[in-house]
Amino acid sequence: MKKVFFLLLLACFSLTAQKDIDLSYYLPKNISYNKNIPTPKMIIGHEVGEWHVTHDKLIEYMKILAKFSDRITIENRGETFEGRPLLLLKITSPKNHENIDVIRENHIKATDDATINISKLPIVVYQGFSIHGNEPSGSNAALVAAYYLAAAEGNEINNLLENTVILLDPSLNPDGLQRFAYWANSNKSKNINPDPNDREYHEVWPRARTNHYWFDMNRDWLPVQLPESSARIATYHKWLPNILTDHHEMGSNSTFFFQPGIQSRTHPLTPKMNQKLTREIAKYHASALDKIGSTYYSEESFDDFYYGKGSTFPDINGGIGILFEQGSSRGHAQETNNGLLTFPFTIRNQFTTVLSTLKAANDMRVKILKYQQDFYKNARNTYEKKAIVFGDEKDAAKSYHLAEVLKKHKIKIHELKSDFKVGNKKFKKGYSYIVPKNQKNKFLIKAMFDVRKQFKDSLFYDVSAWTFNHAFGVDFENNISLSKA
Ligand SMILES: [Zn+2]
Repeated sequence: MKKVFFLLLLACFSLTAQKDIDLSYYLPKNISYNKNIPTPKMIIGHEVGEWHVTHDKLIEYMKILAKFSDRITIENRGETFEGRPLLLLKITSPKNHENIDVIRENHIKATDDATINISKLPIVVYQGFSIHGNEPSGSNAALVAAYYLAAAEGNEINNLLENTVILLDPSLNPDGLQRFAYWANSNKSKNINPDPNDREYHEVWPRARTNHYWFDMNRDWLPVQLPESSARIATYHKWLPNILTDHHEMGSNSTFFFQPGIQSRTHPLTPKMNQKLTREIAKYHASALDKIGSTYYSEESFDDFYYGKGSTFPDINGGIGILFEQGSSRGHAQETNNGLLTFPFTIRNQFTTVLSTLKAANDMRVKILKYQQDFYKNARNTYEKKAIVFGDEKDAAKSYHLAEVLKKHKIKIHELKSDFKVGNKKFKKGYSYIVPKNQKNKFLIKAMFDVRKQFKDSLFYDVSAWTFNHAFGVDFENNISLSKA
């Protein structure tokens, strides 16, 4: 009986302890912070992890940071179906900010010209959070990450910001995040009940994974049909980030996962070096999680196959995509097979890997920039004087909308100058388009139009086929000689 009482006491203590958590729980120790930078609590009115941050509070904090910190600028790239802004923070040293446009131009130029010396260029890291709205530890960790990047002092942060341009996307799915925050907050009890049967952990249908129209946005990186994806893909092609991270959550009884995923399920068009670099970056996550005593695993689940996902899309675009999956508390604290899982604990793991990603990016900067430069050099070296033609002689709209997708990916396309026939297929002017294969995004084009019927591994986490001409139902010819076109 005494033992039971003690355990009960311990459980109560750990739950009330959540209320006492302050920002120092998340942040690296032995670092001083600029007192002029407001902490999240000063703006949002509660400690990070005490409540689920609503999207309006999240963006309010980001706007304030941009106002107070000369390391941060903020831009709004559009809005969701529910009218929420799609914010992007650019974080780098104040000196880099003075000529950020030149830095971006030089970064892109290096992908077009292999003779450009990349050794002095900053590396570009895109960090995106909670594309699934009910996987909220990512966006809540974005509060801590943005604070740290604005307020931390000393050589380490100064060196990082000199060598890195961080594109921080605090919420990849604002409408979903808001929907889940409402659920978790409005069902939170004054005394948290960690019983998995509690209402707090059983969000009502349709749940908050998706956006306003219930689309899973983490399948839309290739088709780009949603406003959130359109804004994000425009940023992607504008900046061509070297690393892109995608912070998710998984089942509550799991620990923490980071890529590489299962190797036999990597898309064959992804260069081997991509996975090698991902593995090297993974050592940084392992070491950082070791330091805070969190358990994790890698390479034992999740695949890197469908290019329409955030962690795979960069792999066919000269970058490195990295998936993080945190076991979800799906509320403020829940009992799991591994013991009590609190929301702040999940946030801390996500934040810790935000920093380990940045440390890896800084340490491996030249190597990763070179990898990207070589990726595009390899594309140029293997140009074919061939083109794809697609069209529908009766329905111009189908071709038009496929062309629209290609344009969003900065793939060059041309309209036909005159009608022509290939076998029985008639490609009509005004109803058809030509896609030359001798262009920068040739690997992306290949990935979009490839028909793949054989797989190294028959098991799949996810989408295994997406050939765009079949998806749009257009007539298609793959190897038209360019002179004919
Ligand atoms: Zn997810």
